[in-house]
Amino acid sequence: MIELKSPDQIECMRVTGQFLGRLLAELGDLAAVGVDLMDLEHHARRRIKERGAESCYWDYSPSFGRGPFRNVVCLSVNDAVLHGLPHSYKLRDGDLLSMDMAVSIDGWVADSAYSVIVGTPAEEDLRLIQATEAALEAAIKVARPGNRLGDVSAAIGAVASDYGYPVNLEFGGHGLGRTMHEDPHIPNDGRPGRGFKLRPGLTIAIEPWFARTTNKIVYDPDGWTIRSADGSRTAHSEHTVAITENGPLVLTGRPQRDEGLEGRRESSATER
Ligand code: MG
Ligand code: MG
Repeated sequence: MIELKSPDQIECMRVTGQFLGRLLAELGDLAAVGVDLMDLEHHARRRIKERGAESCYWDYSPSFGRGPFRNVVCLSVNDAVLHGLPHSYKLRDGDLLSMDMAVSIDGWVADSAYSVIVGTPAEEDLRLIQATEAALEAAIKVARPGNRLGDVSAAIGAVASDYGYPVNLEFGGHGLGRTMHEDPHIPNDGRPGRGFKLRPGLTIAIEPWFARTTNKIVYDPDGWTIRSADGSRTAHSEHTVAITENGPLVLTGRPQRDEGLEGRRESSATER
């Protein structure tokens, strides 16, 4: 069932989304050569607790995975792309790190992800990240009343195709609001003009992710971490978006990097 949200409920989700966007930006700034993944996990736990927010990941036990998940952020390095289980690993020069997090505040959920390169970037990694960001932007642009879910999926698929990256259709975007995963499912490729008609009040997480040379995935023995089947590098970009009468509203925007971490921390203090 697809639940449409009122403008007030969307505003609640935006409050959550702003907190999440800021926290993800902090994690991106902290990610540096020699930093342990668990330091990022602990920073996120601390900030979630301080804010009185709740992690949607903690105790999450889906049919896949060896649940329950006992972390608040998914940290996926290089060929790992989704559900990366935080563990003790010191980031190395040139690592491609994807960070994905979903939290709720006062019962309203936001979900967002992005990829960064730690240290010296390789040209092909920058291009891969750029492709997921361009796909996300293209998908958001068509997330407006009157269009259909197929238009959102097709926009992602078209960018992947332009860049020459294959698309996995198993894991994609989804509705969300009171819980992290709600109807509808939004595959990362599809046919324009098909599927559910978008209308004001629909809130969705749009999340293109690509691996450079495969659309096949494999699971780690931990049951969580999903990698590209051929070991090629991967990237992931996700925003929570509300469809409104005026068009798409991104609820999980991140502060720009030039604001600096201190500025972000100060501004976050005012919302407690
Ligand atoms: Mg996510
Ligand atoms: Mg998601």
